[in-house]
Amino acid sequence: MAECIFCRIIAGEIPAEITYQDEVLVAFRDIHPLAPVHLLIVPRRHVESLAETGEEDQAWLGRVQVVAAALARREGIAGSGFRLVVNCGPDAGQEVPHLHYHLIGGRTLGGMV
Ligand code: AMP
Repeated sequence: MAECIFCRIIAGEIPAEITYQDEVLVAFRDIHPLAPVHLLIVPRRHVESLAETGEEDQAWLGRVQVVAAALARREGIAGSGFRLVVNCGPDAGQEVPHLHYHLIGGRTLGGMV
């Protein structure tokens, strides 16, 4: 999607600190980090939100968690703990309409909401 900010990051049209990429996923640092480690893990394919996914997406959705755990180890927060968050839709405060998982850690995190 030409006007999607995350699609443009994936295409290299907007700068971002990319920390991981494979054939289906890309991870980069959040521009407004909420903690010492704050990465966004996104599918290369434009998928608007988790609500748009179905059975056919099971493999890469599972891969998100495998990659998140690997990135947490690489960032040194696997032992101290981290949170993997997906905001879906307006009530959850999703700002960017391209499915993304926040990997957050490096400090004690507060309550869930
Ligand atoms: P959400 O509220 O779940 O949609 O989160 C969107 C996230 O994208 C926020 O944490 C923003 O700080 C982050 N964000 C927006 N634009 C950029 C950008 N150009 N590079 C990195 N992160 C971004």
